[in-house]
Amino acid sequence: MVLQDELYGGTFNLVMRELERQGIEYTLAATNADAMIQATNGKTRVIYLESPTNPLLTVVDIQQVAEHARAQGVITVIDSTFASPINQNPLLLGIDVVIHSGTKYLSGHSDLCCGVALGSRELIKRVCATASNYGGSLNAGDCYLLERSLKTLQLRVAQQTTNAAVLAEFLDQLDEVANVFYPGLKRGAGYEIACQQMSGFGAMLSFQLKDHAVDAFTFQKNLSVIKPALSLGGVESTICSPAITSHRHLSEEERQAMGVTDGLLRLSVGIEDVADLKADVLGALKNDR
Ligand SMILES: *Cc1c(COP(=O)(O)O)cnc(C)c1O
Repeated sequence: MVLQDELYGGTFNLVMRELERQGIEYTLAATNADAMIQATNGKTRVIYLESPTNPLLTVVDIQQVAEHARAQGVITVIDSTFASPINQNPLLLGIDVVIHSGTKYLSGHSDLCCGVALGSRELIKRVCATASNYGGSLNAGDCYLLERSLKTLQLRVAQQTTNAAVLAEFLDQLDEVANVFYPGLKRGAGYEIACQQMSGFGAMLSFQLKDHAVDAFTFQKNLSVIKPALSLGGVESTICSPAITSHRHLSEEERQAMGVTDGLLRLSVGIEDVADLKADVLGALKNDR
């Protein structure tokens, strides 16, 4: 198995524990199509991607990896959670299996925990058989909530995506902000690829506060509309510090090497009036001075 090295924390833990335990050899390649293709060899059975990534919103050329893999008879799997099905459809780009954390945009209200795998009947049959052995069967209450939530998926994500684009531009112009990571920013590294493979740039972004401008912890505490919380994809905007949450198990040097600095904040943009979100950010910056 070949995986990119920027992976959701839970996925990384699963790779470390389960793949080794099951005797599956794996290689972590740099998070770009060329590196992943180069890392494959005659023994490779699966290539695993995630795009855009958590928390730096790196965009990987999905079609390039999918085409190479298909020619070699290698199965591709992508975690497309951050984009949601509204903004990205990897099956149309040649990917074999698409997974989503349904806990995020599909649920949209931060009140249930579920996941989805999409692909050909033949492949999903195998996924189902394994999932039921691992305990993956959703209870009726959560199924009910999920079905309700799906009815507003497009409306929610469209509003969230519009808000995120406005906020990304807004943050990018603030003196206190060193850097903004959002696939829709023209200056960003992933912009061109994102334009090709995403129908919208998503509602997740992250930004780095300048080292001496504002303390990230105080900034989060000063927010009132945007809530500090770990999860994402809900109708309410939430913020978290990857350095003390998803990436807390890594050493300071490892975090620095990945670009996950103490001043980095990950923002999941909700459906609020974007003027309220901007005012909240400005207010939190002022309180710190
Ligand atoms: C949250 C998340 C997961 C895990 O999903 P759960 O539903 O919480 O198990 C996987 N991938 C990404 C990108 C996520 O954000």
